[in-house]
Amino acid sequence: MSFLPAISIIALLAMLPVLISLRASMVEGGTDFAAASAVASISTVFMMLSEFPALQQLSVIGLVFLAGACLFVLSGFHRALGVHRRTSTSLVAAASMAFVALSTAAFGAQSTTLHALSVIGIAAAFVLIIAVCSQHRRQAPGPVERLCVIACAATGCSTLLAVVVLSPAAHAAAAVPPAPAGWDFACAVMRYFYLPVLFLGVILMIQNRVITDLKTAIARDELTGVLSRRALLDLGQRALTASLARQQPLSFLLLDLDYFKKINDRYGHAVGDAALGHFAGTVATCLTGRGMLGRIGGEEFGIVLPNHTEDAAFTLAEEIGRVVRDTPIGRFDRPIRLTVSIGLAEAVPGDTISDIMIRADMALYDAKADGRDRCTIAGRFQPDASARALAAAAAQLRAADSRSFEPRLLRDTG
Ligand code: GH3
Ligand code: MG
Ligand code: MG
Repeated sequence: MSFLPAISIIALLAMLPVLISLRASMVEGGTDFAAASAVASISTVFMMLSEFPALQQLSVIGLVFLAGACLFVLSGFHRALGVHRRTSTSLVAAASMAFVALSTAAFGAQSTTLHALSVIGIAAAFVLIIAVCSQHRRQAPGPVERLCVIACAATGCSTLLAVVVLSPAAHAAAAVPPAPAGWDFACAVMRYFYLPVLFLGVILMIQNRVITDLKTAIARDELTGVLSRRALLDLGQRALTASLARQQPLSFLLLDLDYFKKINDRYGHAVGDAALGHFAGTVATCLTGRGMLGRIGGEEFGIVLPNHTEDAAFTLAEEIGRVVRDTPIGRFDRPIRLTVSIGLAEAVPGDTISDIMIRADMALYDAKADGRDRCTIAGRFQPDASARALAAAAAQLRAADSRSFEPRLLRDTG
């Protein structure tokens, strides 16, 4: 008896706790993959036992367990990819029955090549169905997915053909030349190791999904759906570097809602949250893809505007101010009007994204001091250490200042 199935079983059992632990991740289908790994181990045990001449019949039980494992894998992919099950379930049932029948016939031939091909054929058929199902996801399939589908289809078809052509009947009818040295071993390796490789792929897929989900979560502000501060500054710095290298303009807008604290105080925090979402949506509609909008923190937002001179950015800022003023929050009994103050700064050579933000912040302070609901353009200077300290102080001053003003601009209109 070969030592290969024992290695395969150990590999499958070693992956089981990893798959179980991945159930805690937000990716669905982890339970199905863990069950598939356990059932696949049982299948391999039966396959291993069937290598004893007296226990050959156990291979059929092994194949049935294999089909069960594949069903769990399929169910796991369904959940992980969020695809519908209707058509694929009947396809799988038909494919599994066909392959179990063909493989059972092939096992009578006592050929390692046939055994390997028939077992791999089952897997290829399932992977093909999984790949086809993944095509129905919401996102369009990428080139790698297309390649996988083609590769699976080719493997499934060639295996099916090989099992039929090399069937015991065909063996009996035609003189089949002996397999070259090492071929049987290669087939046995394929037969026993495609399952561990399949589950390794599943683990990598889940890990990849977790990392992608985390990246998306970090890049988006949960409340408003716009970019997070970190993502805005990262993307903004990249856009700035590219713009300065090509000597193209880039502007930055720093937006701060006026007297926002009063909304929280008067209507409650939940309405304040809704107002932030409403404001972000309104500004995003104005932008129409012209720049990157992110939430800097609290009720402060930033917009990076590549290819925008100071004048072009000012026109846009005025438009944003007007639209925000004219679009009150309408979901409540009485509409609540919002206004926004904006600080504008255009990039100068040698700037970093935080340099522009500091200048925009100082301009924002002037906009607040001049009465709010307006846009002010920053002077073009490179902020030194004292300017940075001033900018930090300006932010604190704004907070103190807002508490001493009456909310002239915030009023109910119902
Ligand atoms: P100003 O016109 O000077 O900007 O006045 P302001 O009231 O908007 O500014 P201030 O800095 O005094 O208050 C900001 C308020 O924003 C205080 C805080 O409770 C509120 N805030 C910050 N983040 C959130 C949030 O995520 N949800 C809600 N509902 N409120 C928030
Ligand atoms: Mg404010
Ligand atoms: Mg503020």
